[in-house]
Amino acid sequence: MTSSSAPPTGAYVIAKALRDLGVTVIFGIVGIPVVEIAEQAINLGIRFIGFRNEQAAGYAATAYGYLTGKPGVCLVVGGPGVLHAMAGIGNSSSNAFPMLLLAGSSETHLVTKGAFQELDAISLLAPHTKLAARPPALESIPHLIESAYRTSWYGRPGTGFVDLPADLIQGAADSAEDIPQTAPLPLPPASGADEAKLSKIARLLKNAKAPLLVVGKGAAYAQAESSIRALVDQTSIPFLPSPMGKGVLPDSHPANTASARSTALQHADIVLVLGARLNWIFHFGDAPKWNPAARFIQVDIEPSEIGRNGGDAELGIVGDINVVVPQLLSQLSGWTYSPSSSPYLSALAEAKRKNEDKAAKAAAKASLPLTYAHAFDVIKRTLHTLSPPDDGGIVYVSEGANTMDISRSVFPVQHPRLRLDAGTYATMGVGLGYAIAAHEAYNASPSSPEAVSGPKPGRKKIVALEGDSAFGFSAMEVETMARYQMDVLIFVMNNGGVYHGDSDTAEEWLERQGAAGGKGLRSTSLGWEVRYEKIAEACGGLGFFVRTPEELKRATEEGFRTNMPVVVNVVIESGKKGKLEFGWQASAKKGKKGK
Ligand code: ADP
Ligand code: MG
Repeated sequence: MTSSSAPPTGAYVIAKALRDLGVTVIFGIVGIPVVEIAEQAINLGIRFIGFRNEQAAGYAATAYGYLTGKPGVCLVVGGPGVLHAMAGIGNSSSNAFPMLLLAGSSETHLVTKGAFQELDAISLLAPHTKLAARPPALESIPHLIESAYRTSWYGRPGTGFVDLPADLIQGAADSAEDIPQTAPLPLPPASGADEAKLSKIARLLKNAKAPLLVVGKGAAYAQAESSIRALVDQTSIPFLPSPMGKGVLPDSHPANTASARSTALQHADIVLVLGARLNWIFHFGDAPKWNPAARFIQVDIEPSEIGRNGGDAELGIVGDINVVVPQLLSQLSGWTYSPSSSPYLSALAEAKRKNEDKAAKAAAKASLPLTYAHAFDVIKRTLHTLSPPDDGGIVYVSEGANTMDISRSVFPVQHPRLRLDAGTYATMGVGLGYAIAAHEAYNASPSSPEAVSGPKPGRKKIVALEGDSAFGFSAMEVETMARYQMDVLIFVMNNGGVYHGDSDTAEEWLERQGAAGGKGLRSTSLGWEVRYEKIAEACGGLGFFVRTPEELKRATEEGFRTNMPVVVNVVIESGKKGKLEFGWQASAKKGKKGK
């Protein structure tokens, strides 16, 4: 209650509905008319994290949803606020991360009159959300917020949207008794599979020459690590994690085929897909990347996913990994994949050895300017002395085409949900919002019901590995981090451009920039050796500009121990020297040549 006499305002009713649902943090940006909602929420004990652009706030809410397994909440103004937040909606639906989006809108009686920030947000967002609705009256606000929250969460996650007109936010109820209450919702119901189908799948696995388990970020979101661990430990079936499925099983697990990925795809005949989609990340389940005879058994909570692309519709299971995997394990009744001789296992071992050798050589190759591989090796070694990977004390956020591709295999992840990247949409610009979400999820308040426990209790260091281009999308969020005293350690891998950048040297870059009558800078060009670290300094954080391995090591050590946001600006090779192919393109080409 606001007070015993005054009837509650719409803003209070909204904030209270969120609080009673168990919401502990809201990501967003205030303005007219939503500022009152945020103020009431803060008064009720909800944390409000105010961003510099709704895009990053939306990304943060979705990542928070992924990490905590419950919808992240985002609050924005109408019109332009909604348009910016649409990026978060796209991220939510493409990655299947739950988000509740609340936006203000103009007074209902002014609609079509050219009101302040007027936008028909419901029409715009309905096709992109699981539910988009506007309460017709103040009394219906709690029900609608609960409905949008639940809808975003249950089934395959996505976005629930509630449009909140200014007159409702600013209006007052006749009396407090008219306002219904919300309460925390039970976890989404989880269903299993029928035993006949399971026994058929168990038989196929037992008879497989080359079984493979694919573990995706749906398994990480489902927090299914114990059941999947039991399955792999008992059966010894080789597994392949997706980029964000890394850590559901420790990267160091002997059955991990990540460093022999192409070989695993080429050989696997029975593939059990747990919480991953056969989309571009898994080459649509198609030959020649995959064995043309491979059969894909999908386990997914979303029925429309079953049978999509390479999936076998008859074998697929609509169910929750946490229920289905233990069911399957009991059907396998003690069976272990241990063929007396297996060309599959030998090929995997051989490919692993070769690829890991190659990576070690690249990592050891010191040159100036630094290469990605050597710079990451220096960062990794330094971080590991400060926080051994088994402790799970570091959350990695990674984006930028090459930065993400190359760092993925460098930094081992031993526990689930400790690595976030550009994801299904390959969205560049998510990094800083994700880092804030991770900081909030893991460090904000250990007693909060939404706090993630992780493998070891205690604070986690958030480390963001950013390409210079990716960093630029949301660089101002460093100020957000500083304001909320978030000790995020950001590395900007600075090659002066998108992909490989533009020029090999400063002289070449300057000549191109000024090229009289010439073609000028390439489309991949960014500024030459931009001093990104100064953004951190300007906001009260710490900045380092480094060129050498020694400088990088020192900056990493100091940055790790610092209690505020740190930007380590790492100059790496660019232009023709730094030329690299985007990982998935290179592998697609290789696949074509292969067959
Ligand atoms: P990745 O990018 O790691 O390959 P995707 O995002 O493509 O993963 O796929 C994740 C899949 O996991 C989605 O299809 C989603 O419906 C599914 N999923 C999410 N939670 C569960 C769950 N509890 N049980 C089964 N499937 C789930
Ligand atoms: Mg770059």
